[in-house]
Amino acid sequence: MKFLSTMHSHCTYCDGKNTPAEMAEAAYKLGFVSFGFSSHSHLPYKAGYEMKMEKEKLYREEIQALKEQYNGKMEILLGLELDADSLYPDFKYDFLISSVHQLHTCDNWYAIDDCKEKFDKCIDAFGGIENLLKEFYSATVTAALRDNIDIVGHIDLVGKFNENNDYFNPNDEWYLKLVFTAIDTILEKRPDIVFEVNTGAISRGYRTTPYPDLPILKYLGEKVAKIMLNSDTHATDTLDFAYDIALEHCKKAGIKKLYRLRTKGFEEIEI
Ligand SMILES: [Zn+2]
Ligand SMILES: [Zn+2]
Repeated sequence: MKFLSTMHSHCTYCDGKNTPAEMAEAAYKLGFVSFGFSSHSHLPYKAGYEMKMEKEKLYREEIQALKEQYNGKMEILLGLELDADSLYPDFKYDFLISSVHQLHTCDNWYAIDDCKEKFDKCIDAFGGIENLLKEFYSATVTAALRDNIDIVGHIDLVGKFNENNDYFNPNDEWYLKLVFTAIDTILEKRPDIVFEVNTGAISRGYRTTPYPDLPILKYLGEKVAKIMLNSDTHATDTLDFAYDIALEHCKKAGIKKLYRLRTKGFEEIEI
């Protein structure tokens, strides 16, 4: 099967390379049934990738115009990727992704996924990798349980620079317990929330496997959590990047069905 959809994409309204029109056209050419725009929402501090607050209205209008342009050809959905510290939007988006890219101490903000140097600084600021991981998953739970969150973004983004286990062993019992507890807490309150298998770090050359790591994906499968594929694309040439790898990853984890967001809601697809 082909998944032919992503709800996680970035365009020139935040840190993507292509305009919304270029992204939509490329998705249509690939035969996508649905395409979601999820620009990084604005933040109360400058991170560099966020959408400017004054651009948000224009963003909504431009995506709305594309919805009309592609009406009957491809479903376009208007969303946002909210950071842990994003101001909650006062507009009803078609969908919201909750992600944690930054953590803060009382006097500073630290990037989780920008580069190794900044990640190292973040570890120092939180007093070691174990403390940082605890903080990250705690923030992930709080952020995911905000009102009307549809999708939990890259739940183990904190492993972006850890593919060679340079920082921690992602198979260690203490680490998995931390992640599983976070998943349990989210699912207890929001059993319908959707977790993504995200190939963004593969397309950008940071990892060879999608988020989340296999033991985490297996656990989500055991918990019968809803799972979708997202490319977290930032350009027209990565709209369904590594979806073949993502599907294999899902099968290895014992996942038998995925959820794809359409205008009318999530639909189930057998894999
Ligand atoms: Zn993200
Ligand atoms: Zn993203």
